[in-house]
Amino acid sequence: MAFYKERTLWNEKIETLPREDMRALQLERLKKQVAYNYQRSPFYRDKMDAVGAEPGDIQSFKAFSNIPLMTKEEQRKAQEDSIEKYGNPYALMACAPREKIVRINSTSGTTGTPTLYTLTQHDIDVVNEMHARKYWRAGIRPGDVMIQALSLSMFTGGLPLSQGIMHMGACVVPIGIEGGTKRVLDFIRLTSPSAIIATPSFGQYMIEKCPQLIGKDAKELGLKWFFCAGEPGGGNPEVRKMLAQGFGAKVFDHTGGGHAFHGISCDEPPDQFSGMHFISEDHCLLELLDPSTKQPIDIEHGATGEMVFTFLDWEGGPFMRYSLGDLLEISVDPCHCGMPGMRFKIIGRADDMLIIKGVNVYPEAIKTAILKFRPKVTGFFHILLSKPGPLVEPPLKITLEYDDSISGSDLPLLEERMLSLFKEEVRIAPQLTWVPAQTLPRELKKTNFIKVKETHA
Ligand SMILES: [Zn+2]
Repeated sequence: MAFYKERTLWNEKIETLPREDMRALQLERLKKQVAYNYQRSPFYRDKMDAVGAEPGDIQSFKAFSNIPLMTKEEQRKAQEDSIEKYGNPYALMACAPREKIVRINSTSGTTGTPTLYTLTQHDIDVVNEMHARKYWRAGIRPGDVMIQALSLSMFTGGLPLSQGIMHMGACVVPIGIEGGTKRVLDFIRLTSPSAIIATPSFGQYMIEKCPQLIGKDAKELGLKWFFCAGEPGGGNPEVRKMLAQGFGAKVFDHTGGGHAFHGISCDEPPDQFSGMHFISEDHCLLELLDPSTKQPIDIEHGATGEMVFTFLDWEGGPFMRYSLGDLLEISVDPCHCGMPGMRFKIIGRADDMLIIKGVNVYPEAIKTAILKFRPKVTGFFHILLSKPGPLVEPPLKITLEYDDSISGSDLPLLEERMLSLFKEEVRIAPQLTWVPAQTLPRELKKTNFIKVKETHA
């Protein structure tokens, strides 16, 4: 029996810093970072010159918000220009000398040219620290074995995550999902893990496949934690319940790869979701903007807006006022879970939003509605568009699977009830096409609910 109270936070000093002290630390680091970026990066110097700002002008968060935003398209263009002009992708944006850059990560790069994160050893130490803070809060300790079942080629969820887990003293099994579901299950049998990190869709797929592949339920794998990553869903109560029941595990959502924006959800029942605690504020300044006017929104309880982040105390490729198009909802009141720090929910991506008769609809909201009908439906569905969004000519076409347990004659009633839920909760009247279970392809890496099929009139 231990006679000391075990610490619940990895870095008590920083993670419990009062709000005003954290803001003061951020401002101090911001001033230094802006001067550093200006001095070392032609890309950022141009951004500031465009509004006639010099580093000495940035003495407040308000003054900082006058610097123009940076977008993914600009980052791609800077990479290309840099290759053309200097023979390497990061001369324009990376601020550290080339010999100090020891790792290049990328976003998942599902569309277009991947965008790069360039890190020095200092930056890698920061990322490791953030992973440690997240898993420690969730209760992972040295001795726990974690199965990393994400696409390892999705770099930020690959090697950087493995390193972060090792940094906090837990044991990682970086199996990846490239080898298929059976291989992941084989390694679970061989290594007795207590936790798994995977996409919610892969979790759902494992629950379906376990009886057939290994002759037992996913619940019997002995996993105590399911960490959702790589796609939305970990904050969806219906998805959380399905994973919690299927694995008999606690479900956490978390975000943050090889960069500075990291969060982890609370230890709470699966039918609740209070958002993710933002645990990397000392290295990441968050701003919120009105998505249409791009005007700043105060970060206060209940605020929602497009997220813009700036890396602080960062050497390699320190993003400054970077907008990735994610929409956040903020909570700053003390959390029932007892953990410190403000929270955020990712409510959608500006890119995924569909507009149907003036109503903004996110695929996640559609998924939530469909999952309420489990086990009569499998939960797999596609949204079919005749041309890329966001504007959709109504009705929205949804193809979805009914479960083996129901018969064709049950469908009209099921459809009627589902349409009424869609009308009430999502404010849309979609056209549903029912297909038998296992008809739609299962995507192991990242599920894209929206399929665009050009139709020819
Ligand atoms: Zn909490």
